[in-house]
Amino acid sequence: MNEGRLTQTPAQVKDTYGVRVFNDKVQQARLPKDAYKALRDTITNGTPLDLSTADAVANALKDWAVENGASHYTHWFQPLTGITAEKHDAFYAPTADGRSIAEFRGKELVRGEPDASSFPSGGMRSTFEARGYTAWDPTSPPWLLVSNNSVTLVIPTAFVSWTGVALDKKTPLLRSMEALSAQAVRVLKLFGSKATRVTATFGPEQEYFLIDSNFYFNRPDLLNAGRTLFGATPPKGQELEDQYFGSIPERVLAFMADVEAELYKCGVPIKTRHNEVAPSQYEVAPIFESANVATDHQMMTMETMKRVAPKYGLACLIHEKPFAGVNGSGKHLNWSIGDDLGNNLLGPGDTPHDNLQFLFFCTAVIRAVDVWQGLLRYSIAHAGNDHRLGANEAPPAILSVFLGDMLTDIFEQVEKAGQAKSTKTGGTLDIGVGALPKLPRDAGDRNRTSPFAFTGNKFEFRAVGSTQNVGLPGTCLNVAVCESLDTLGSALESRLKKGEPLEDAVKAILKTTIKKHKRIIFNGNGYSADWQREAAKRGLLNLKNTVDALPQIVTTDVVRAFEQYKVLTEAELHARYEISLETYNKTINIEAQLMVLMANRYILPAALEYQTQLGQSVAAARAGGVLSKGGKKHLANLVKLIDAFKAQTDKLDAAAAHGGGAADKHAKYMRDTVVPAMVKLRALGDQLELVVPHAQWPLPTYREMLFVK
Ligand code: ADP
Ligand code: MG
Repeated sequence: MNEGRLTQTPAQVKDTYGVRVFNDKVQQARLPKDAYKALRDTITNGTPLDLSTADAVANALKDWAVENGASHYTHWFQPLTGITAEKHDAFYAPTADGRSIAEFRGKELVRGEPDASSFPSGGMRSTFEARGYTAWDPTSPPWLLVSNNSVTLVIPTAFVSWTGVALDKKTPLLRSMEALSAQAVRVLKLFGSKATRVTATFGPEQEYFLIDSNFYFNRPDLLNAGRTLFGATPPKGQELEDQYFGSIPERVLAFMADVEAELYKCGVPIKTRHNEVAPSQYEVAPIFESANVATDHQMMTMETMKRVAPKYGLACLIHEKPFAGVNGSGKHLNWSIGDDLGNNLLGPGDTPHDNLQFLFFCTAVIRAVDVWQGLLRYSIAHAGNDHRLGANEAPPAILSVFLGDMLTDIFEQVEKAGQAKSTKTGGTLDIGVGALPKLPRDAGDRNRTSPFAFTGNKFEFRAVGSTQNVGLPGTCLNVAVCESLDTLGSALESRLKKGEPLEDAVKAILKTTIKKHKRIIFNGNGYSADWQREAAKRGLLNLKNTVDALPQIVTTDVVRAFEQYKVLTEAELHARYEISLETYNKTINIEAQLMVLMANRYILPAALEYQTQLGQSVAAARAGGVLSKGGKKHLANLVKLIDAFKAQTDKLDAAAAHGGGAADKHAKYMRDTVVPAMVKLRALGDQLELVVPHAQWPLPTYREMLFVK
């Protein structure tokens, strides 16, 4: 092992980028002309693909994969577990004369049939009708998964039941993109645009921790729950702010470069890397892409990081809150919409006050966040994110929109006068040193406390959890904006029909819409207690935890919208509600059981051993004719603490054994009874950690895990 030190100059990205992808260039070179044209038409315009084209694609795909060393192919999908799933099949088929040939037909490319019965379906598919299909998604290019001793062709797919019910996260995302495109194009037409298709774009930033894998393997909680369930606060945390944007440790940089090299080969456009706020916390971000491809690439990014870390003796932690007391990890979902003429519809241009089309789209998003607060809150709700949202390090659980000074000023003008006459500019910033250039200054400062911020030419949904598949929040956002564009578009159409000039009609709509929905705009400090009060006054939802937020996915309005835009049916939504509840219950249950296990088999034995030593030491002193006053007191305190710890362990054990009942009731019980019992047990365990001698403490400590780099 090279201990993470690079021994050679890495290959240039331009030489390796996309070499493992069946991309446009490869398609063009290898497909018959008409098949190539048909495939491109499917990818760019969504035209259905016929089986003869699929056969041609399958053949070219197989030849390309086999030439690159592939022995197997897999339909890769994103079931409702939140992670990805794959089952590998060999290309090879034996022949009568005892040889074997590589075989792969259109049929096998287009449809796979994994045994779907063990993926969560929320009751949509009982096990006696276990048939589930994976359906090739031609809009996301296949790629080669190269690992030790194997090369596998990976085909991105959607996962549906025999009856056509969506059992995954990709299907609704694709449907929501279609729906959003239709409404956005309809609005663009009213503004005189010739665009025929609009694409939602995602640029997801990923935060994560890296720790030495020796520590990782010695922490049952990290191994099985992804987060530490015990662990005393170390003397040094993140208070010196010496980590954020600090120089990247050598071993970590080697890891990052390796991950990037792997991802570049797979066509994932990684752009930035840096240290984050907490010790041993980092971030990686790509250049934005079409929502669907970006989602696949985001999943590949997480998987690649986990796969590469052990090579450097590291473990990659993606959980929202691996360590208490320091910042947790999020995944900022940068989101925008662009048309097929190359325009970003949320780009304000130089004079946004003049740009009525931009203002219209921007207003539609603002309205969407207000009207669909509950839906968006649902889309980020899960046990892991409960440790972040509202914890003064991550956005509050209240949805609001940060617009910044420039846009806020414009919208204030619009609200008053129906139109804006000027745009605030930032001017330039003189650093006061002649040799340094003057810097153009942004019109407003940034805001790190907002869950949903306008950042120049896109919105940044900052409350998404670090483990999440961005498909879900992305789908919800797409549906919300789709409904908003539909509503505002209809209003605009009816005004135009009455003969009102476009400009007047738009201004009138902007004015009433902003008036009605401006309560969602908030530029202040989202962490402050004032905001909690102010938000309540404004009537904004404040769903503080997962259990409160989950029912939002099955409200009448949400069901109506999802059905209207053909994204998910009522049954599919209810299934997701069920699965979210079950996942929450299972997560808390696993954590509770792990805590009991760690308490009984790790912490208590160590503490009792120390109690014995201490008792012997006090007894020895007495036998020697002295009374160890301090020792006696220490012993008494220790015994008391250990007793309390054991009693609380038994309490948690009993609480976790509770039968359950209906999933929603059980979730409330988990939140109100089990979680508080866990919090209490942890506090006692962390006190013990600070008493028991280091050499006897059975778990790696925060001080070690967070600072050995
Ligand atoms: P910041 O620190 O300001 O959030 P980063 O550079 O870390 O900036 O991340 C910005 C992210 O926003 C990148 O992933 C970038 O690709 C993405 N982004 C930029 N423009 C768009 C867009 N039009 N649609 C979606 N994402 C975008
Ligand atoms: Mg960001």
